Amino acid sequence: MAHRTAYKRVLLKLSGEAFSDPEVKGGIDPGIVRQVARELADLQISDGTEVAVVVGGGNIFRGNSPSAGGMDRSSADHMGMLATVINALALQDALEKEGVETRVQTAIGMQEVAEPYIRRRAITHLEKGRVVIFAAGLGAPYFTTDTTAAQRALEVGAQAILKGTQVDGVYDRDPRTEASAERYEEIDFLAVLNQGLKVMDATAISLCMDNDLPIVVFELLAGGNIRRVVRGEHVGTIVHATGGAPASGAG
Ligand code: UDP
Repeated sequence: MAHRTAYKRVLLKLSGEAFSDPEVKGGIDPGIVRQVARELADLQISDGTEVAVVVGGGNIFRGNSPSAGGMDRSSADHMGMLATVINALALQDALEKEGVETRVQTAIGMQEVAEPYIRRRAITHLEKGRVVIFAAGLGAPYFTTDTTAAQRALEVGAQAILKGTQVDGVYDRDPRTEASAERYEEIDFLAVLNQGLKVMDATAISLCMDNDLPIVVFELLAGGNIRRVVRGEHVGTIVHATGGAPASGAG
C-alpha cells in the first residue's frame, strides 16, 4: 500500500452507536463519549490537526427503523435528525471539559442551542483550531449522516473522511459470523458499491467517488487510532480511487 502523508484537515464521522456501550446498545454512555473526546483533544492540541465531526443518531432514533413503524417518513427522519443534535451536545460538553474549543452547527435552525450551519463560518472555526460538530444531518429527510459526512467534508475541504467503527476495517465478508473473512488494507469505491460492502451508504460512497475523497475505516476505540490515521499510518482500510485485494493473513 502506498505511503501517504498526514492529513491537515479531516472530517470524523461518528455513528450514533459510537456514543453507546456496545453491550447495552442504545443511549449515551458518558464514559465512551469522554474517551472519544480525549482522543480528539489529544490530536487537536498536540498535532494541530483541524477536526470537523458529523454525528449520527442511530443510538436514539432512526427514521427508517421499526420503532418508527407507521410514521410518516419525513416526520420520522426529523426525529432522527434531532437525535443527532442530542449526541452533538454530549460530545461538545465532553470536548470542552478536555479544554477543546468547539462549535456545534446545526442544519435545522435552533438558535438557542447551536449555530446554524454556515460553511464559511465553519471553515473559520476550523482555522482557529475549534472542533466543529455538524448536527441535524443535511436538514433534509431521506438522507443519512454518512451522506452528510461526505457532503460536509467536501464543503469544508477536508482531505479525508475518518469513519470510526466497532470493527477494525472493511472485510470481504462479515467477520463476526465468518472466521475466514479477510480485511482489506485498501479498496476502491466501485468495489465497495459492487460488492455491497458495509462502509457507508451508496449515496455517500458515490459522492466520495465522484469527488475523489478518501474514506479511512478504522476501529474507533482502539487507543490512539484517530491520531495514527491522521499521521498517515496504515490503520484499518482506506477506500479510495484505486484499490486492491484483501490483505493476506489479515483479520
Ligand atoms: N437523517 C435524515 N437526514 C439527514 C441525516 C439523518 O433524515 O441528512 C435522519 C434519518 O432518520 C436517520 C437519522 O437521522 O436514520 C439518524 O442518522 P443515521 O441513521 O445516519 O445515524 P447513524 O447510523 O450514523 O447513527
